[in-house]
Amino acid sequence: LLILGIETSCDETAVAIVKNGKEILANVVSSQIESHKRFGGVVPEIASRHHVEQITYVLEQAMEQAAVSWDEISAIAVTEGPGLVGALLVGVNAAKALAFAKHKPLIGVHHIAGHIYANRLQQEFQFPLLALIVSGGHTELVIMKAHGEYELIGETRDDAAGEAYDKVARMLDLPYPGGPGIDRLAGLGEETIEFPRAWLEEGSYDFSFSGLKSSVTNTIHNAKQRGETLKPEDIAASFQASVVDVLTTKTVRAAKHYNVKQVIVAGGVAANKGLRSSLQQEFANLKIPLQIPPLYLCTDNAAMIAAAGAIAFAQGKRSTLDLNARASMPLK
Ligand code: ATP
Ligand code: MG
Ligand code: FE
Repeated sequence: LLILGIETSCDETAVAIVKNGKEILANVVSSQIESHKRFGGVVPEIASRHHVEQITYVLEQAMEQAAVSWDEISAIAVTEGPGLVGALLVGVNAAKALAFAKHKPLIGVHHIAGHIYANRLQQEFQFPLLALIVSGGHTELVIMKAHGEYELIGETRDDAAGEAYDKVARMLDLPYPGGPGIDRLAGLGEETIEFPRAWLEEGSYDFSFSGLKSSVTNTIHNAKQRGETLKPEDIAASFQASVVDVLTTKTVRAAKHYNVKQVIVAGGVAANKGLRSSLQQEFANLKIPLQIPPLYLCTDNAAMIAAAGAIAFAQGKRSTLDLNARASMPLK
């Protein structure tokens, strides 16, 4: 069973071919980060244009890398949402054209389901599992009791974790995307500033990072007014300590409460060294298996879309040729 996956929800044009939902035969990612850097974030129009320019080339490369023929492809899976509509449309239309021309079933995939299924490219799932999704646009805790079934138990009420990283990075004049820069700086500094932790109501698995972001802004501003200079590495370390503390604590609490057999982490912020080591330590103590994908599977790619598509395909889920891009959609 070979699934061809396509991902264009943000600033990565990606095509992959995955065998039996688990084995990567090709995983081509063309990143546009350089084009968006000088704007400090993703510019939707530029993203769409890049996808249009890259998609055919990336597709050809993936087919070449996998060394398979179109006859062997079982279905086309594509990210239908959530994401930038103009960006998503490029992938959705490419997938529809291929499905029509090559007579293949079409499967619309939720981008976050893809981030979760990136983990299955490493190891089979054990249910019930808890997924912590931490990306540029999402911060969520999801319980899965079976393949393709998602129960959202907590989510951010304002900024996503990655978004907070990107915004704080801007305050520190670090290049976009800010996560890796802050992560690196944090490793050089110390937690000298006590930033707030948004625990929210007792028992809540929701998150909030906008207060933390404001607190960082105010701290930098106040120090400047007093003529003091704070070390950027200490700001980074203190900010990261707050984010990691909240993410780790809520994930641990949810894992215990739902008595899960496995915890998986997904999304670009899963690359964070502080978060990785904090989660590794906690779950090693609890003896609950923790899985964090390697970097190239944490950030946007199409192998994860093909992996999620393989399960949807096996469950008989199909999309029709009127499949449309969706800026927001519930996890399914
Ligand atoms: P979504 O998946 O929610 O649509 P996205 O696809 O833009 O959003 P990803 O590509 O999964 O998000 O992740 C990108 C985010 O990950 C950025 O916000 C980036 O700053 C963050 N990030 C990457 N590396 C690190 C790191 N080492 N530490 C913290 N954040 C990081
Ligand atoms: Mg991205
Ligand atoms: Fe993503």
